[in-house]
Amino acid sequence: MNNEKISILGIPFNNLTRVEFLTQLLMRMENQQKTFLVTANPEIVMYAKEDDRYFDLLLKADYIAPDGIGIVRAAKTLKTPIKERVPGFELMLGLLELSSEYNKRVYFIGAQEEVVAKAVENARKLWPGLEIVGYHHGYFDHSDPKMIEQIAELKPDLILVAFGFPRQENWIHQYLQVADRGLAIGVGGSFDVLSGKSKRAPKIVQQLHIEWLYRLLKQPSRYKRMLALPVFMREIRKQRRLKRATKNEK
Ligand code: UDP
Repeated sequence: MNNEKISILGIPFNNLTRVEFLTQLLMRMENQQKTFLVTANPEIVMYAKEDDRYFDLLLKADYIAPDGIGIVRAAKTLKTPIKERVPGFELMLGLLELSSEYNKRVYFIGAQEEVVAKAVENARKLWPGLEIVGYHHGYFDHSDPKMIEQIAELKPDLILVAFGFPRQENWIHQYLQVADRGLAIGVGGSFDVLSGKSKRAPKIVQQLHIEWLYRLLKQPSRYKRMLALPVFMREIRKQRRLKRATKNEK
């Protein structure tokens, strides 16, 4: 099994293709191994750089997937290339597909009440045999242990958590301490997309890797968050200079 990790500003990404990710994750579900899966984009990496607790939390993940072209570019710049970008939304769809095929129990948690209900409805349409054992919106007290116990009792094999970071990773960590099985993944705004509330960028935009530009144009209020990307790339170039300098010293 390929367990190679590529470090981007200290965050260890798994160097796996989408298919390799899904294969390993399915195996873990089959073996009822608890799994903490993070999909990290440059914004998350930059946040972790500033927040030690979140950084330590990410190190506890079993898998970290490179969500976004920014991570792939950074890895290339640092001369430790990553195989491919593995968007969280696509991992989620792949895991739902596998769950339907291998009779896994799925739980959806997060987003607004009507959004999660619609996301579940759409998932049932896409995969009629999918066993969705329950769902809940994401606006409750995330430190409430009762919620965790109730969901853990349903023994989902796959639990999709859509609270946005860092909330979802914090909650998943608590959840997995109580649950006796389950693959938990933080899927950010994916229920908004699956429900049809927000549209994913058109294919051509995705292929050109300019989803960030598309989102910025559609939702100008997000521009502050978008600034994380140039700041991230500047940080990566600094790392590269450092790497080169230490190499020359040797
Ligand atoms: N969300 C949630 N509970 C919260 C905050 C956010 O369920 O306490 C949901 C929100 O409805 C959305 C998703 O988390 O579906 C991502 O939210 P947002 O875009 O604000 O988070 P970001 O991706 O910006 O971290």
